[in-house]
Amino acid sequence: MVDAREGPLLAAEVARRLAERRGEWAVLGLGRSGVAAARLLRALGIPVYASDGGEGAAVRDGAEQAARSGADVDVGRHDLARVARASVVVVSPGIPPSAPPLATARSAGVPVVSEVEVALRCLPGMRYIATTGTNGKSTVTAITAQLLRALGHDAEAVGNIGVPVAELALRDRPPAWAAVEVSSFQLHDTPGILPDAGVLTTLSPDHLDRYSSLAAYYADKRRLFANATPHAQWVTTADNADVDALVAGIPGHWHRFSTAAVPPAGVAAWYDRAADALLLFGRPLAPRDRLPLPGDHNVANLLASVLAIAVADRAHAEPWARERLAEAVATVSALEHRLQAVGEADGVRWINDSKATNVASTLVALEGMTRPAVVLLGGRPKNEPLDPLVEPLRRVARAVVTYGEAGRAFAEVLAPALAGRASVVALPLGATFEQVVDRARALARPGDVLLLSPACASYDMFRNYEERGRRFAELAARAAAGLPGDGR
Ligand code: ADP
Repeated sequence: MVDAREGPLLAAEVARRLAERRGEWAVLGLGRSGVAAARLLRALGIPVYASDGGEGAAVRDGAEQAARSGADVDVGRHDLARVARASVVVVSPGIPPSAPPLATARSAGVPVVSEVEVALRCLPGMRYIATTGTNGKSTVTAITAQLLRALGHDAEAVGNIGVPVAELALRDRPPAWAAVEVSSFQLHDTPGILPDAGVLTTLSPDHLDRYSSLAAYYADKRRLFANATPHAQWVTTADNADVDALVAGIPGHWHRFSTAAVPPAGVAAWYDRAADALLLFGRPLAPRDRLPLPGDHNVANLLASVLAIAVADRAHAEPWARERLAEAVATVSALEHRLQAVGEADGVRWINDSKATNVASTLVALEGMTRPAVVLLGGRPKNEPLDPLVEPLRRVARAVVTYGEAGRAFAEVLAPALAGRASVVALPLGATFEQVVDRARALARPGDVLLLSPACASYDMFRNYEERGRRFAELAARAAAGLPGDGR
């Protein structure tokens, strides 16, 4: 029996049970990470019970894969008695701590860990840079893997970004390095985490539908540092007071980065605006315009990534590595749906920022604009005030097209606020996305940007933000090919 032990003790207990390979493990959730965890445990010869409360096509597909590896599978239910008897429970990040199977596991004293925890224990030789934060996790993780590869390492971007860490553990030859994105939900159940370098990008209120308080959310972020030693290497922003407060007193070497106009003293990497250059350890690394990603937030993401790589291994601080990193800045590529340039037609650049599903993300996008923009805003609103967008829209927008469930309400707020600066066109509920985009296209002039950064969820018209972004990219490709719009 394991009681409410946390951190290193829990990690050691789970590692012991993993080595013993006795008793059945329960995997809760049959998404991609649950399936990978089940397959990994089965590959180690451990009996597995895997279950998911949902019954959709994706769950059934996951169940089939887990069953093929020899797991016993339940779809549409969790056998609570069986969960209570499990040696260890491996939980998917989508399952909230209050869910019945987790409550059962807790009251039965069964240790609960994430797929990331199990996978890391099975990859003892792999070096890794772990990144968390409210925003920028995926971007830093992707850039980090790209730059590690530029240094000649075999490296992968895994974790919350989409590829489960357990998939690496299932390979005959796992990579030497990984960039691991860890969400707060994953950190909650990854007690043994100790990266070669750990990055905390930003902190701001989020996920308050799942956490009882902001403090509880930040406390999970703090678990990145649960195994900190005086030798640990940590990288954090110097531009966020909540971050400084959260990490105060944690052991290790601290390296901070900043994009502030006047960076605080002692930062290790920063953006020198006067020289328009990125600096690392007090010396120029590369001109700003070598980085092909827009916006200061992406400068911050790059600085975090370069800094983490430089401190994760001594060899990376040598001149050859610095030179290669400096060159590789030019090769960094944007992630899909995050301020991603998807086409150029009639002198107008189309930018897909479909991942901007809230006001804060759209604000970041607008702040990165250097050309007049026709901005597409709409979808299923999150009832956030639009005030933060007014000033930047007044500065960069030529026109705003509002649409979807948010269309009318957004236009009612924005039309008076932008009067005399930008036109606001509201498309009626029921207009297709193609009609919306056609309207925006007609408003753009050569030299403009056509920006999809909707500040809303996509569910009124699409299955998810990826589908919305892909449709926008298809329409951009049509326009670039000289074809008329698709809005019949
Ligand atoms: P995450 O994986 O943490 O959700 P992403 O890298 O996917 O973050 O970026 C999502 C959105 O968050 C971006 O489109 C951008 O609007 C915003 N963002 C990215 N990096 C930062 C940053 N360093 N600071 C503030 N906002 C950021």
